[in-house]
Amino acid sequence: MSVAVLIEQRGGEVTRPALEALTLARSLGSPVAVWLGDAPSADAVAQLGEYGATEVRVASVGDGARLPAQAAAAIAAATADTSVLIVISTFVTKEIVTRLAVLTGAGVVVDAAGAELVEGKVETFQTVFAATWNVRTRIDAERAIVGIRPNTTQASPADQPGAATVVDVAVELPETRERVTHVEPVAQQDGVPLSEAPVVVSGGRGTGGDYTLVSELAELLGGAVGASRDATDEGWISHEHMVGQTGTTVTPALYVACGISGAVHHRGGMQASGTIVSINMDPDAPIFEISDFGVVGSLFDVIPQAIERIKAHRGA
Ligand SMILES: Cc1cc2nc3c(=O)[nH]c(=O)nc-3n(C[C@H](O)[C@H](O)[C@H](O)COP(=O)(O)OP(=O)(O)OC[C@H]3O[C@@H](n4cnc5c(N)ncnc54)[C@H](O)[C@@H]3O)c2cc1C
Repeated sequence: MSVAVLIEQRGGEVTRPALEALTLARSLGSPVAVWLGDAPSADAVAQLGEYGATEVRVASVGDGARLPAQAAAAIAAATADTSVLIVISTFVTKEIVTRLAVLTGAGVVVDAAGAELVEGKVETFQTVFAATWNVRTRIDAERAIVGIRPNTTQASPADQPGAATVVDVAVELPETRERVTHVEPVAQQDGVPLSEAPVVVSGGRGTGGDYTLVSELAELLGGAVGASRDATDEGWISHEHMVGQTGTTVTPALYVACGISGAVHHRGGMQASGTIVSINMDPDAPIFEISDFGVVGSLFDVIPQAIERIKAHRGA
């Protein structure tokens, strides 16, 4: 199967989700990497080769990478000979791939948790409707596009890594009515972005506005800090930290909910996480219904003990 992966990059560096996508792509075939924007550095090319890319197809489209119509045209040119395209599911890529599907007649699934080949066709799996349904989808079209959620594949280098060849792709960009006039990245919280973090430790109203312990635990676990909407509405923490239906959807390997009741609006944004651990004083809190591990108690008692045990375990 000929597989292409749209490489997500940040400041010229390949992101961890992009390496996850390449890892997944290797289970479907021999992947080529598609790189939009300025030419990749030698380090980036070497890393893509290490994760199994045989080629890095570079479409130097400048700001076109930010304009969905132009990005779709560039990807179409770079993937004309491939039958499967994997992208990381984000707001931006979802718009790009829907346009790409119109251009190429591909079948599209976004927000997938995984994909595999069954009788020569791509099948994806994912949870939908706030993780209340498991869905498997078969893409019957000749070309398939899969948008994959971060943290659903463990990124690992190829068993037999090779050197990826850089190939320039000629692209005729369509005229668009939009122009990019100014780009200013939103300030990220320290560490990994919430949507990509492998571990998220979230605090809700139960924190009373004190995020010291939640932040300490997140840092110890190498994760990001999340929050409920009540906490962000109180102004205890900025809105970029909000997890849920109107906040960020997260799918970390580990989600720790501290002092969060588990309202449906919050669950919708975290229920597909790998392992869910909850700390709540109320044994009847709805968050326990979806938790793998629950601790009934005050987060101010439980988190310090967890921190102590984790440190002791690491020191042992
Ligand atoms: C249209 C709409 C969209 C929404 N979108 C979102 C969204 O995207 N994300 C979101 O989070 N919410 C969203 N909400 C709000 C949501 O319905 C809940 O109101 C919110 O999630 C509750 O936040 P919470 O769990 O922090 O607070 P609460 O529901 O008040 O729960 C606090 C919990 O903390 C526990 N607690 C108290 N003290 C402690 C302690 N010391 N230690 C341990 N536990 C303690 C309590 O037992 C309780 O269970 C939305 C609401 C609407 C109407």
